[in-house]
Amino acid sequence: MNESLLNALNNYAPSEESLEIAHNNPSLNLAGPTGAGKDTLAGYLAQIGNFSTVVSDTTRASRPGEVNGVDYHYITEEQAFENVTSGKYIEAEPVHQKYMYGTGIEAYERVAQAGRTPILVIDVKGMETLMRAIPNFETVLLLPPDFDTWQQRLDGRNAIPLEEKVRRLTTALDEIVKPVENPRFHPVVNTEVVDTAQVIISEEYKSAEYRERALRVAADLIERTKAFLSEHPAA
Ligand code: 5GP
Repeated sequence: MNESLLNALNNYAPSEESLEIAHNNPSLNLAGPTGAGKDTLAGYLAQIGNFSTVVSDTTRASRPGEVNGVDYHYITEEQAFENVTSGKYIEAEPVHQKYMYGTGIEAYERVAQAGRTPILVIDVKGMETLMRAIPNFETVLLLPPDFDTWQQRLDGRNAIPLEEKVRRLTTALDEIVKPVENPRFHPVVNTEVVDTAQVIISEEYKSAEYRERALRVAADLIERTKAFLSEHPAA
């Protein structure tokens, strides 16, 4: 990513107006490591309930099967720079110092104005930014049910080279370790999408018993991921 975009992102502060829109139209927020099933869950919630995912902007290229305007709005670094400097985002982050990802105010408002609850599927850093800016902002931290099922899901997508897998798991570990310490992240174990959707809609995940169980799953995922990474140092 070019330096001026990176600088603009590092100094980005959303406008009061955009935060007010987000505050007045609370979103359902989904964070969690890669392969936890966030997008599938968001799609299912949009099918069965009054939810719509807010389509983010990104400067990364589309992957095979992705559709512009559905998965992301794919934009150039020049467009991203213009949007960032003119305050078009509720939050915007550089991911891996490489690509910009941002939640557009317009995209958010479109969902809210249609009378639907916006779903945000964004990374932990983006969620933390919103937590600092918006009172009572909380998020679901979606977790795979266990390490082996998670690895099967990740491997199943396509054969991933070991080096790439180590890179993804290193990032994934960060997306679990930090948020489990923060009470505004609510761990939810994604067993089956239908059951998980019920746990979310009923807000069962907010109970102390549920949290305790989910944190045990998180602790096991962290332990197994660390073990995997120490067996494959800098692959
Ligand atoms: P991917 O490129 O694999 O679709 O997504 C990479 C990461 O960017 C994921 O963790 C995803 O949740 C995050 N992401 C997607 N959209 C946004 C956004 O608008 N803002 C932020 N901060 N992160 C996002």
